[in-house]
Amino acid sequence: MINFQYCRATDVADAILLLTDHPGAKLIAGGTNLIDLMKENVEQPSRLIDISRLPLRKVAETADGGLRIGALVPNSDLGYHPLVEQRYPLLASAILAGASAQLRNMATVGGNLMQRTRCAYFYNTATPCNKRSPGSGCSAIDGLNRNHAILGTSASCIATNPSDMSVALAALGALVHIAGPSGERTMALTDFHRLPDDTPHVDTNLGTGEIITGIELPPRGFAHNYSYLKVRDRLSYAFALVSVAAALELDGNAIREARVALGGVAHKPWRSLEAETALRGQAATEDHFSRAAHLLLEGARTCSHNGFKIELARRAIVRTLTQAASATPQSQAHKKIA
Ligand code: SF4
Repeated sequence: MINFQYCRATDVADAILLLTDHPGAKLIAGGTNLIDLMKENVEQPSRLIDISRLPLRKVAETADGGLRIGALVPNSDLGYHPLVEQRYPLLASAILAGASAQLRNMATVGGNLMQRTRCAYFYNTATPCNKRSPGSGCSAIDGLNRNHAILGTSASCIATNPSDMSVALAALGALVHIAGPSGERTMALTDFHRLPDDTPHVDTNLGTGEIITGIELPPRGFAHNYSYLKVRDRLSYAFALVSVAAALELDGNAIREARVALGGVAHKPWRSLEAETALRGQAATEDHFSRAAHLLLEGARTCSHNGFKIELARRAIVRTLTQAASATPQSQAHKKIA
């Protein structure tokens, strides 16, 4: 590990200042991803700015009936928060599908959005990787790519975003609250993460000196008809091969509103407005769910080892929508897929 300067931010403005005047600086809160990356010499910050004591740990109702979640709320606190359990159970379910209890106790909401891909080549400094070392090449494209992306990939990178929480937030239409040198702004969660294109080393659309201060959920929570299904190689403490967040509003068996987001298949949580539009007004049947799956997976491109993901994703989408429609969401305590 390299030497680095450590400092503790006294407030959000101080964190922005410390970040802006030191180009090699990184923020640290729970540290559940950054410390691993530093141990492997993948991340080499010259300054670590500890933001863990900033007052960003509140979960509060907004005036319009939504929820504002501070960036430093631990994942476990959020997953078990009564308002989230009652009104946004899709989010609670996705959080509990991720990592382990110990990691969820440390990991924060903001850090969850900022975590980096788990592509093994990204962590191995002996191999080329455009995300770690721009212009060096991508070892995964002709290498072991079983876990890699099938949607939104580029010739530079086929990595996936590892977050479960972000997949549910994308489906729920969450906003990211950001503070920076030019003031405060919000961004749709679906715009926060980037596709790799030819700049895979840039994961998000955060600007220089900007930090996440919170997440805002709109009032619509889809608390009755939802499900988060995560398919992985083992039933806990593994990243998704494919995950699906599905949320429906039904009038009898007719779909009034539909949201579907995918994890494990792209560099960002994957939504298709076309697929959701195709579901609205239709009966909640397997045929219509299959049609939505087809639209969601349109343009999928596979490599030598991850071709199975297309059919896996198709089946997972149909199954998750079926679970949502029948109000029998996937249990995260008993992860056996029903
Ligand atoms: Fe690096 Fe992306 Fe290729 Fe993985 S997929 S080796 S992260 S460039």
